[in-house]
Amino acid sequence: MLKVFKTLKPYMKGEGLVFFLGILALILVDSFQLLIPRIIKRAVDALSFGRANTSLLLKLGLFIIVITIGIVITRFIWRYFIIGISRRMEKRLRRAFYKHLQTLSPGWYAKHKIGDLMALATNDLEAVRMMVGIGMVATFDAVFLMVASLAMMIIINPKLTLYVIIPLPVLSVVVGFFGKILHRRFKLVQESFATLTDRVREIVSGIRVVKSYARQDFETERFKDISKDYVHKNIRMIIIGGMFEPLIGLVVGFSFAMVLLFGGRGVILASMSMGDFVAFNSYLGLLIWPMIAVGWVINLYQRGKASLDRIVEIFEQEPDIVDTPDAIELEEIEGKIEFRNLTFRYNPELPPELQDINFTIQPGEFVGITGRTGSGKSTLIALIPRLYDPPQGTVFIDDVDVRNVKLSSLRSKISITPQDTFLFSASLLENIKFGNVDIPDEKAIEAAKIAQLDKDVSDFPNGYETMIGERGVTLSGGQKQRLSIARAIVLDLPILILDDALSAVDTETENAILEKLIDTRRGKTTIIISHRVSALQNASKVIVLDRGKLVEQGTHNELLDEKGYYFELYQMQQIQSELNSDE
Ligand code: ATP
Ligand code: MG
Repeated sequence: MLKVFKTLKPYMKGEGLVFFLGILALILVDSFQLLIPRIIKRAVDALSFGRANTSLLLKLGLFIIVITIGIVITRFIWRYFIIGISRRMEKRLRRAFYKHLQTLSPGWYAKHKIGDLMALATNDLEAVRMMVGIGMVATFDAVFLMVASLAMMIIINPKLTLYVIIPLPVLSVVVGFFGKILHRRFKLVQESFATLTDRVREIVSGIRVVKSYARQDFETERFKDISKDYVHKNIRMIIIGGMFEPLIGLVVGFSFAMVLLFGGRGVILASMSMGDFVAFNSYLGLLIWPMIAVGWVINLYQRGKASLDRIVEIFEQEPDIVDTPDAIELEEIEGKIEFRNLTFRYNPELPPELQDINFTIQPGEFVGITGRTGSGKSTLIALIPRLYDPPQGTVFIDDVDVRNVKLSSLRSKISITPQDTFLFSASLLENIKFGNVDIPDEKAIEAAKIAQLDKDVSDFPNGYETMIGERGVTLSGGQKQRLSIARAIVLDLPILILDDALSAVDTETENAILEKLIDTRRGKTTIIISHRVSALQNASKVIVLDRGKLVEQGTHNELLDEKGYYFELYQMQQIQSELNSDE
């Protein structure tokens, strides 16, 4: 309990006064509630002793109305304050969670299921919030009401109190027990629902594949099963839910029967007044909620704690790519990149994906990288901005080991178009300016022109303001790539890397892009990864990788003379283009 509080304390900073006021309001509500049976007792006693008159009843009636209004107001206040605390706590926790997620590396994400992280960010955070908000309230409320109602009952009749409270602890047990089963079944329903929605999402977003392989019937059948499972799990939950309330009613009924039996006899024997009898019943009614709450709060707490543990576990994941204590800031850089005896494996158990790589890219050079698919090209360039950490002393920028450079400073010098472009559901312009929202629109449009995207944009309904993604236009593969290029070049950084960014555009457009690109990148380092010789022939140097090794390097002409992989690639593409022009 103390540990939970300690963990959550930082997220509830400055809430002390609000908490105090909330609890105060809560105690007021309870006190008002405790007052009502006393008023009723006075009325009933007056009635049964024949001392009642209209003005007394009117007075007592008005009093009850005033108190009820008081209850409404104070109840609103505590809810507003205490639930407010839990919501703000949740917000801070969620932010911290999100912020922490951003520090984790692509390698970490590759090992974790996104669905699990989503569940953490929704269900688990909610469970923690419930524990803090409702849990806190219910605990205070239950303890206070229980003690006070019991005290009132003991004042009226100690012996009778003893009789009636015997069945009540059963209530806590019933609630606790059934609550647990109910929750377990509820979770199954939730999981089943998640499977259902996952499936729908997958089928809807993959509808083109489903249709082109004529798999509609199969998918429909499969969906039927999932849907059936969902209904089945719901019914299992409803069965428990349906038993829950009647069982509580049963236990409560026992207590009331006791009052009727023993209290009623007291009234007959005149050892208890009619008013006391009625008041006693009311206090018993007030006692029932705290007994239910005990079982409920225990469940809330257990659930909340389990969720909090899961969240804390993520918080304890240290980012694996971090600044060293004496990391330096890179000021202006020339853009020299050097690989020294670089051998890299994604995982100590895996074979190396890169072996003994040695080469240098001079400042301002325009370098091409090619090689068979899976030869390690994307891996190689991911090491420059340290998306994955290279071993110490293997990758250098301006003669500084990238491992000794501050990450933020390193990454602010390099822009990459990753091979698998990701566009956000935002306007075209916003997507181009993703790397820096402060870029003026004119510059973004200029970049789009270099990337040969401008012509396409004029066909879009709202030009650069056109929304893309799920709720907007769908871009073609080539358009996506060119948008991605625009996004990278607009930053105008000392190092630009295009990873297979031109594969989906035709050779003519590719030439147009490269021509402009070389012009704007003059004096700045540019790396182009491509399977096409046409994209590489203007490079001052081409690097050829094969199975993680550097097998050839040189200019276009030098490599042709080597008659190696590059030469083969060239010949094959020559034949292809001749075939194409013959058509
Ligand atoms: P392509 O031309 O198809 O883009 P590539 O030359 O860029 O290929 P890489 O993506 O660098 O090739 O992949 C090189 C090898 O590293 C492959 O065998 C691949 O399976 C492996 N690999 C890539 N990413 C990871 C990763 N995150 N974890 C483990 N292995 C990986
Ligand atoms: Mg690649």
